[in-house]
Amino acid sequence: MDNTSARQKVEVILGGRISDEEMRLLGGCLDDLEKRAADHQKRLRRQEQEFTTIFEMVGQISARAMNSESLIKYLLRTVMGQFMVPRLAVLRRTEIEARMLALAAAQGFSAPELSVEVEGPLGQFALGAARPFDLSSGDVAAFEDAARLRSLGLVTCVPLVQQADGDRPAQLEGLLLLGERLAGGPMGPVEKRMLGLLGQAVAITFHNEMLYRRSIIDDLTGVASRGHFDAHLNQEINRIKRYGGRGICLVMVDLDHFKKVNDTHGHQAGDAALRKAAAVLRDTVRTVDMVARYGGEEFAVILLEIERDKAQEVAERLRSRIEAARVECGGVELGITASFGVACFPDDGEDKQKLIGAADSALYRAKASGRNRVVMAPSGAADGGSSAGEKRG
Ligand code: GH3
Ligand code: MG
Ligand code: MG
Repeated sequence: MDNTSARQKVEVILGGRISDEEMRLLGGCLDDLEKRAADHQKRLRRQEQEFTTIFEMVGQISARAMNSESLIKYLLRTVMGQFMVPRLAVLRRTEIEARMLALAAAQGFSAPELSVEVEGPLGQFALGAARPFDLSSGDVAAFEDAARLRSLGLVTCVPLVQQADGDRPAQLEGLLLLGERLAGGPMGPVEKRMLGLLGQAVAITFHNEMLYRRSIIDDLTGVASRGHFDAHLNQEINRIKRYGGRGICLVMVDLDHFKKVNDTHGHQAGDAALRKAAAVLRDTVRTVDMVARYGGEEFAVILLEIERDKAQEVAERLRSRIEAARVECGGVELGITASFGVACFPDDGEDKQKLIGAADSALYRAKASGRNRVVMAPSGAADGGSSAGEKRG
């Protein structure tokens, strides 16, 4: 629209003539409005971009919900690419009650011993702030931990905080620590907002993974929990029913005269013996096999893709290694033995309960015939076979 027609339109709207000066003022106002609209649009586009990036990041983080190794790798790659930070570190709590945040990964520098105390001034500040801050800002600058991190070239701290929920207070799951940016100047409010959202998503994931891990791992011995064992055995039986394969064998293990260990050497020695037995079992089988604590002083081992004869050999090796192991506790060294019952799927039991029952009966026979030995379920127990295989220790 040229200036004359614009002027005519304005005069129609206002119902009278306007001077050159009024027209100039009006033009200025319109220019100003146009500029503001353009700025606004630019800001909206930037926010949309920021939102999309965050949305994608949170999606990627959720996709790695049960695999913190992959999540941490993603985090390092993304933060480095998105924020142009070549030096960064991820510190995290490895246990729910842990008092230290330990180094989970570092990039661009090396400090394997790096850790921050959860209850220390920096940990407490990070928990309270729950959003990114500079390690040289205000009160933080004087904290010993902050000075140490700055000396490693780290300048920005993103607290990974699991927000309070009902009675459960907010919890510091870890810290994401960033060095100086390669370009683009120091982190501005936009970058900090993005990092804050990223930190929240990572904290939730770390927290959930820890809860999940706790539910599948036995606290005392570090092997699989009973619940995890049940689920795993179901899953493996269903897999074989559907796809076939060489079959699986279940080994039930019960420590011998364990009550006496507790009575003679104390409960702590008993606990140490349980840990030792679990470690021996775990170290003797392959990583695809599962060792679980089935109950008090009973363990269960699931051997995958294995035939009967081979399973008997493995069980015999487990027996002799437990017998050879030494448990140290309070300056005392003691030995333990265990009895073993082995049953194979599908020959000795066509479902989970029957398989466990067959392994249990074999274990009972191992106990009854003198302990410290391996007894196989009678081959074909599922269809009424009878000859029990036994190997003495
Ligand atoms: P057997 O050879 O017949 O298996 O005899 P046992 O003494 O091992 O069997 P029993 O079932 O009578 O005793 C099991 C003992 O295991 C009793 C219990 O105090 C102990 N126990 C179970 N869980 C734990 C634990 O977490 N820590 C410790 N220290 N002892 C445990
Ligand atoms: Mg028992
Ligand atoms: Mg026992």
